[in-house]
Amino acid sequence: MRGRELHTQKLEQNKDYLRRRAGAVEKLSDQYLTNDLLRGKVDEVLVLNDGTMAPLDYKFAVYENVVYLTYKTQLHCYAVLIEDNFSKQVNKGFLVYVRSKNKLIEVEISSKDKKMIKETAENILQIVEKNVFPRATHFKKRCLGCTYANICIK
Ligand code: SF4
Repeated sequence: MRGRELHTQKLEQNKDYLRRRAGAVEKLSDQYLTNDLLRGKVDEVLVLNDGTMAPLDYKFAVYENVVYLTYKTQLHCYAVLIEDNFSKQVNKGFLVYVRSKNKLIEVEISSKDKKMIKETAENILQIVEKNVFPRATHFKKRCLGCTYANICIK
């Protein structure tokens, strides 16, 4: 807990520096955003010097030289939410790895990434609203450790 507190204190001191490095001219903190498909709380929505916006998310994690897909997907979701709520384009997002001396990592976000999020969210909504049972994956490796393995008709 003490370590976490120290990290938080240090992070507060470094936030302006991190934003400047990200090219931000303005920031909106703790933005709870929604649209028809998604909802989420973005740590910071940055206004960048080229007029676009970008989500910034703090991770209490160590950077291991790779940005995991879960983190990327989260940024892609935030990009869709920001574009819908602020009518500004989002081409990138940022992650701050608090346990790696606040390492700032830039993650590009393409139109394809945002399209994929919208399609996936729509598909999930269909499953929930129409009670459609999704097809099983052809990649059986994905079933290892899956939460639904004991109820899934594989
Ligand atoms: S067990 Fe899980 S991963 Fe495998 S098909 Fe079923 S839901 Fe998909």
